[in-house]
Amino acid sequence: MTDDDEIGDNIRILMDAGALPVGEVSSRRVGLISARTCDACDNAIRPTECAIELEFWKTIVVNLHARCAKLYEAELRRRMP
Ligand SMILES: [Zn+2]
Repeated sequence: MTDDDEIGDNIRILMDAGALPVGEVSSRRVGLISARTCDACDNAIRPTECAIELEFWKTIVVNLHARCAKLYEAELRRRMP
């Protein structure tokens, strides 16, 4: 999973399966978070990589690479009314 199209496909599959939330983001944090796994592409987020943390309904937290977050947020916008 390196290609934007592949990651985008994977994000859509995860959203359809309910593994990634489809809803309004209640908070968004950008920064360096260490040793976590990206919820979109399932690869590790290295401490040197910029990560995005998205929170939904103040309960569910999704950790993503900056690039994966961009694809995910684009897909969210497409699905939201
Ligand atoms: Zn990722």
